[in-house]
Amino acid sequence: MRTHTCNELRPEHIGQTVILVGWVNTVRDQGGVIFIDLRDREGVTQCVFRAENSPEAAKLSHTLRAEDVIQVTGPVEERLKTDEIDTKNENLETGEIEVVTLELVIINKADVLPFQIDKELSNEDLRLRYRYLDLRRPRMARNLRQRHEITKAAREYLSKEGFIEVETPVLSKSTPEGARDFLVPSRINPGKFYALPQAPQQYKQMLMVAGVEKYFQIARCFRDEDLRADRQPEFTQIDVEASFVDQDDIIALVEGMLSSMFEASRGVKVPIPFERLTWHEAMDNYGSDKPERRLGMEMVDLTEELRNCEFRVFSGTVANGGIIKAINAKGFAGASVGQIDKLTKTAQEAGAKGLAYIQARDTDRTTWRSPFVKRMTDEEVEALRAKLNIEPGDLILFAADKWEPACEVLGRIRLEVASMQDAYKGKEDELDFLWVTEFPLLAYDEEEGRWAAVHHPFTRPIAEDEEKLVKGEYEGLRARAYDVVLNGHELGGGSIRIHEADLQSSMFKALGITEEEAQAEFGHILDAFRFGAPPHGGIALGLDRLVMLACREGSIREVIAFPKNNKGMELMTASPAPAAPNQLRDLRIKSTAQEKKDE
Ligand code: ASP
Repeated sequence: MRTHTCNELRPEHIGQTVILVGWVNTVRDQGGVIFIDLRDREGVTQCVFRAENSPEAAKLSHTLRAEDVIQVTGPVEERLKTDEIDTKNENLETGEIEVVTLELVIINKADVLPFQIDKELSNEDLRLRYRYLDLRRPRMARNLRQRHEITKAAREYLSKEGFIEVETPVLSKSTPEGARDFLVPSRINPGKFYALPQAPQQYKQMLMVAGVEKYFQIARCFRDEDLRADRQPEFTQIDVEASFVDQDDIIALVEGMLSSMFEASRGVKVPIPFERLTWHEAMDNYGSDKPERRLGMEMVDLTEELRNCEFRVFSGTVANGGIIKAINAKGFAGASVGQIDKLTKTAQEAGAKGLAYIQARDTDRTTWRSPFVKRMTDEEVEALRAKLNIEPGDLILFAADKWEPACEVLGRIRLEVASMQDAYKGKEDELDFLWVTEFPLLAYDEEEGRWAAVHHPFTRPIAEDEEKLVKGEYEGLRARAYDVVLNGHELGGGSIRIHEADLQSSMFKALGITEEEAQAEFGHILDAFRFGAPPHGGIALGLDRLVMLACREGSIREVIAFPKNNKGMELMTASPAPAAPNQLRDLRIKSTAQEKKDE
């Protein structure tokens, strides 16, 4: 059909007769001469229709509208360039030439479109309803292609490292990854349900027991959670598991994989190895287990300096075993009342009672605006000045509480203040990869009154804490778990696993799962671990999020072909949808209408 794509013709093709196909991107009528930008997935080429070249094609060209599918045939010519006019377009790769159309075939007409393809559109629901049009935009087409390149790089890298791709069931059993399951009723087993996998965690561990040794899968996962910009009910993980490995092996493998993925997409060499922070260091310095370090603004501890401060919020907290931390938002002393209010609200939402701050207008403390600075001794003020490097114009923000909540609150404030200051600007190309290690193994759930797994129940404690787990001493246990973080986003996480039935039983016990429950829910794992299970560990990376960051997009919906909107709807096909009565009958489920009738 075609001889070239719409991004192929260059000056060396001048004089050749070519055939192009594609969509009419734009139509311009210049004094009766029609100019068309013809678009295919590779780019655009200008095609001109003049009566003197072909009266028929020129006549027909007047009927063309955006998004008609056409075929043009004609010679490639150099675009006109004289002293008076220059019709060459430097911004276009095909900008030096045009095709002089001798023959036009309209393959398929397009109706008036619900929106223009070549304009950005803020109504996302409209974009999703006509996603096939939305995906014609060059940005979206580029994102799809980037996704392919990135995924391909991961596949190639892992294959080269000896990993084999194994598919695991989608109709499966509940996996405890901390979210709600999607359930699928079974027609042939009435009253029974499959759960869609939140992750292939148990299957990949079973593959290790099966002797596969090196597994990966570009796996679809399903979690029934509330949606956000970087969350979808179904998403894709690069899921990896290996036997006879340690944390350092998985870390090195993933570093190599990520660097080849970023090289494939952005063409940059990511320096490896990545830095590592323990979870404690990440929380202590940045108030987050996925620290955004490009902002600087590290949190500073002031517990000792303010232990005896006359301001009771500080001294009282320290007396109760709490800590005091602060950050210096450089040059932000001029924050408006509205901004301070907003920060205070953020602190309160994160669990603080309020927000203590100092607006250090000038060098002298008498110029400092703050609800409490007058209750501080000169010594205390000088200690703050030194530790926080306070200069005229700075805004100091404090958190005082037990260590973990204080870190969390100030971590949230730090991010909020950074976006108020537009601190991310100019840092778009900086890639800060890092590892966070030594997560806590268990966290106490106050509401439920029991311990919960921070990662998942198959994660192994660090060697020196194994015995404590067995003995039932759950406080402060650390996990052999690791997360890889990029620019404040968690790209993925994993762990070295438990591979002994007894230790796994101790873990279930810690989580308040009785022996009978453990046998009923996880009997297959406990059984498998008794038949020669190798030591193993792995990781899963969120592919959507990774592609989003590589493509510099702000939402994973921009890198998924057919995503759900923020109400969990896929608008193009309008799913989810009510089931037909015969489908419900087959499943022996009553429709709401039938239930009403029965009452
Ligand atoms: N299954 C885990 C998750 O989805 C990853 C892992 O531990 O490998 O987060």
